[in-house]
Amino acid sequence: MRPLTYSRAWDVAGAIALATTSPASAFLAGGTTEVDLIRAGISGTGHLVDINDLPLTGIEDRPDGGLSIGALARMSDVARAPSVVRRFPAISRALLLGASEQLRNMASMGGNLRQRTRCAYLRDGVSPCNKREPGTGCAALDGLNRGHAILGTSKHCIATHPSDVAVALVAFDAVVHTVGPAGERAIAFDDFFLLPGDTPELEHPITHDELIVGIDVPGEPIARNSVYLKFRDRQSYEFALVSVAAAIEVDRGIVTDARLALGGVGTKPWRARRAEVALVGGPADEAAFRRAAALELAGAVTREHNAFKVELAQRAAVRGLNASLKGVMS
Ligand SMILES: Cc1cc2nc3c(=O)[nH]c(=O)nc-3n(C[C@H](O)[C@H](O)[C@H](O)COP(=O)(O)OP(=O)(O)OC[C@H]3O[C@@H](n4cnc5c(N)ncnc54)[C@H](O)[C@@H]3O)c2cc1C
Ligand code: SF4
Repeated sequence: MRPLTYSRAWDVAGAIALATTSPASAFLAGGTTEVDLIRAGISGTGHLVDINDLPLTGIEDRPDGGLSIGALARMSDVARAPSVVRRFPAISRALLLGASEQLRNMASMGGNLRQRTRCAYLRDGVSPCNKREPGTGCAALDGLNRGHAILGTSKHCIATHPSDVAVALVAFDAVVHTVGPAGERAIAFDDFFLLPGDTPELEHPITHDELIVGIDVPGEPIARNSVYLKFRDRQSYEFALVSVAAAIEVDRGIVTDARLALGGVGTKPWRARRAEVALVGGPADEAAFRRAAALELAGAVTREHNAFKVELAQRAAVRGLNASLKGVMS
């Protein structure tokens, strides 16, 4: 049995002060990830700081047409907020395609970003896993790796980041706001997720006592026709094999702006910047979409069971771009 202590914070400063008292502290929001990991015996948490009384549940419109989402806003509330549905349909859809209604009612946006990979070798608590126990190896490299990543991998870890909404948020240049003992920080969404490299145990550039207080999404007219598609082994209650957030702007048949991000294939929510660059200035047609998607996937590193993701991700990207284009044209 491992001892576990619990305290409840009433304000942001208090939450940080409580977390700072022990390096084994962790914040507790909905608990849908953290409690699972503690129960499975694979979390090092020894002290839980419950943050559910903090006033961080807002979903507000920004003057530039963007959004300010509190870290404790529940996934279901964000998914159904009228301004999210209207102006950022990909964000709403990504949330609704994640988990189940009961989980979405409990799970917070801040917790969603910090959820851990679903790699079975990390979660079984005994297999070699550099993320769980640095230096022990990676059982997935030569194991069952059908669900694992093909982009952003290293020889130390090939686990995918499982969040759906993070894929939509990275496409629209969201910013994560944190407060910690050293003060406030604004972290570009893409930088909030670290590639595994030689240190897969490090997943975010924040300290254990640094609290996510909110997520800002800048106003982006292109997002109005955005789509989020998710491909998985069963239609509900399942993580993505591949997912795509896509949005396109077109003027007289030429792409003037494009956003593309992939889930289920990267060790982090994957912004497909190479594809975006290839698309802009070219024709808005399927052949161009295919070329751009192939360019993005050219850097894929596959393993025994996950090579199928290269083709699936390309098809998903093309389908996402076509779906957004249809919205632009209608
Ligand atoms: C069966 C199941 C299916 C799921 N399916 C999907 C899916 O299809 N798609 C998907 O995207 N997700 C899925 N999830 C994951 C789910 O979305 C996350 O568990 C949830 O979003 C985590 O939020 P939470 O509030 O419960 O976090 P918690 O469990 O409370 O916390 C998670 C982690 O984040 C940290 N944390 C929480 N809040 C903050 C904060 N404000 N600042 C700093 N750190 C913080 C905690 O310390 C902890 O380490 C699934 C989960 C389950 C259990
Ligand atoms: S892929 Fe990453 S999380 Fe999975 S076993 Fe390897 S090191 Fe661990």
